[in-house]
This record gives sequence, C-alpha cells and structure tokens, in this order.
Amino acid sequence: MMTSPSDMVKDKTVLNIDSIRNDFPELLRMVHGVPLRYLDNAASTLKPKRVINTVSDFYAQSYSNIHRGVYLTSQEATQKYENVRTIVADFISAADPSEIIFTKGATEAINLVAATWGDKHINEGDEIIITTMEHHANIVPWQMLCEKKNATLKIIPIDDNGEIILEEYAKLLSEKTKLIACVYASNSLGTINPLTTIIAMAKNVGACVLVDGAQAIQHIPLNVQELNCDFFVFSGHKVYAPSGTGVLYGKKEILNSMPPYQTGGDMIRKVTFEKTTFAAVPARFEAGTPNIEGAIGLGAAIEYIRDLGIEEIGAYENMLLQYATEKLQQIPELNIIGKAHDKVAVISFTLGSVHPHDIGSMLDRKGIAVRAGHHCTQPLWERYGVTATTRASFAFYNTKEEIDALFEALHSVVKMFA
Ligand code: PLP
Repeated sequence: MMTSPSDMVKDKTVLNIDSIRNDFPELLRMVHGVPLRYLDNAASTLKPKRVINTVSDFYAQSYSNIHRGVYLTSQEATQKYENVRTIVADFISAADPSEIIFTKGATEAINLVAATWGDKHINEGDEIIITTMEHHANIVPWQMLCEKKNATLKIIPIDDNGEIILEEYAKLLSEKTKLIACVYASNSLGTINPLTTIIAMAKNVGACVLVDGAQAIQHIPLNVQELNCDFFVFSGHKVYAPSGTGVLYGKKEILNSMPPYQTGGDMIRKVTFEKTTFAAVPARFEAGTPNIEGAIGLGAAIEYIRDLGIEEIGAYENMLLQYATEKLQQIPELNIIGKAHDKVAVISFTLGSVHPHDIGSMLDRKGIAVRAGHHCTQPLWERYGVTATTRASFAFYNTKEEIDALFEALHSVVKMFA
C-alpha cells in the first residue's frame, strides 16, 4: 500500500490526549446527533474542569468584593485575585506582578494603551506602524488616534506566503516612528512574526512596541523581558479561561507615567471635591469592581496549561497543523491562504467558489465547528483579493481523527457543489 504524505506526520507527543479530552466536558457533547468536533480555537477555546470548578467553588465558598473588605471572605477573594497577577507575571516572565493589568480582553487592553499612552505621546506628524495582518482590534484604535492627532498610520506589507517583508518595514522606520503595534501570531494566517527582529529594529529608532499576543499566549513560551516589548496584550477566553478577562502587560515605569483610562473607585489615591490623585499601577488602571471570578478562572487556566507544558502543547499542535495541511492540500479545489514558515495551528482556506458560510453550515451538520467570514481582518483579505475564508484552528485537545473528519466533510462539500 502507498503511504500518503499525511500518514508520515508522526505523533510523538508526551501529552495524554485521551485524558486531556476528559478534562473538557464540552468535548463530550453531541450536536445534530453526532459528536462535536471543535475546530474554532482561534475564536475561543473550551474550558477545562479545573477552570469550571475553580470559578464554581469561588462562587460557592468565597464570593465577596475585593480590596476593601476587612472580613474573611473578602480577604480570601482579594488574595485569590491578586495571586493571579503573580501567576500571569510568572507565565510571561514579567519583572513584577504590578505590571499585569486586568482588562476585559485584548481589545480593551489595546484601547487602553491608545487612549492613555497614545493620547500623551502621539503628536501631529508622528507615525504609528502596524502590519497588514492585524486584527481590527489592533487597527481601529490606532486609526482613530492618528485621526485625532493628525498623525500617520503606516502598514508593513506582507508577501504571498503571509510573511512580513522586513526590508519594507526597515524603509518605514524613521525618527517620526513612535509606536509599532504588531500581532505575534495572526488569527487569520497563522503566521508567527519574527518579533525579536521587529522589536530590535523599532528600538533602534527609539519607538515603543505593543505586541498583540492574543494568538500567541496559548501556543508559544513567552518572556516579555527578553522580547523587550513595552506592552503585551492577550484575552483570557482564547487561553481556556472565562470570557471578559484579559491582560495588559506594560513596563512599570511606562504604565506609571500614563494618565488613567477609566476613573472611579479603586484607581484613586485621594479624592476631594477639588482634586483627585491617582493610585500607582496596577490599581490605576482597574477602576470599579473587576471581573473577580473571571480573573480567578484565568489563574486556573494558566496553571492548567503551565502544568501540561506550553512547549509540549506547541509541539503537539504543530504536528496537528502539519497533518491537517498535508491532508487538506490533497483536495484540488482547496487553496490555503497563509503559508508562512512559522505558523500556529490555524488554516484559512477557500474551496473553489463555494461560499465559506455554506461550507461552515455544511460542516456544522456533521458536528464540525469552524469559522467562516473575515475573522476581523478585512484589510488582510483585501491584500489577497478575497472577502472571506473558512478557518480551522486547532488546540491540544484536538486529534488527527477530527482532522480526518474535516477532510471527509470537505470532500462531501466539493461533491455537492461540483
Ligand atoms: N487580536 C487578535 C490577533 C485576535 O485574534 C483577537 C480575537 O480574535 C483579538 C485581538 C481581539 O480579542 P478579544 O475580542 O478577545 O478582545
């Protein structure tokens, strides 16, 4: 018997995938009478029992507001919430837990930086650089800031494979460049950008760097100090944690020099009717009662993936990516967009002239959950001359069998529309 290329992609993982799958109750669900095959992990991830139980136990046993209660449950809640700052700081190798600001997601974290750091430091004639593959969350805040300040937004072009053209980036840099806002891994192409080089080049012209790590945190080991970025953002829901949680990491001296974002309780030092002074970080940027249970769930999620091993997770997902890429390429009508050398486990594709929404709906009837549309990267798709793609994205609980099911289902789509 001939060996097909995809049979040669060997699974050498040390992860016990069967046991891991048991950690995720939603994977046991049936949809339309067939097992759910969840391949939409770049949009959001499923939640392990450790996260579900941590949030549920907190509600059942220690729920209280944080920071100002002198009674036991409030102190327990405060300790649990603040402990997550340390867990996150350790996970991304920040210098200090106070550099971790809780937000409701990557989007809010980027808006926070645009509204505070941006408002203070961006002036008429300044330039902000982003890449062609940014999520709308890392385009629109900068676009609006540039409009307000009469500054210019410049875009680093990419090649057909979906890799940044570094020579073109070099040409955009000058003493006018004040900020580079760059995605670490693209949610639409999967491309992992060469951040060390990008950041070193930005630092050469004295620019600040914000990294959108929404698609990196769950796949790639991180050390923000080694990267030398000034800001790093991510969302909890893409890293197995509750939605409505997220993180802004910033270098402490930069965060402390920024004006507040939202104002109100918790972020003040002293309020009089004449004047208010503001707390230092992290409190300065956490006005009002936060998503306490969400943050505590985020801590549990990070401990869960830390215990599995982020390198082991990355290696297994990379095997799935290779397997799926080789398999899907056997379908002649299927065109993968995003062929960078370094990728996270994301495959965007078109299938002849079949609309991605039709593909998504047909796959859904077979229990396969994928995303169909523009994935919040409309300017990127304009670069490729398409308006929408179908996207399959994998997590460490996915299997080769699920990819086989995707392959078979795509064959049926081709047959139906042929
Ligand atoms: N940046 C990237 C690369 C993303 O993939 C996403 C979400 O898909 C975001 C930012 C925005 O994340 P959220 O909607 O959780 O704030």
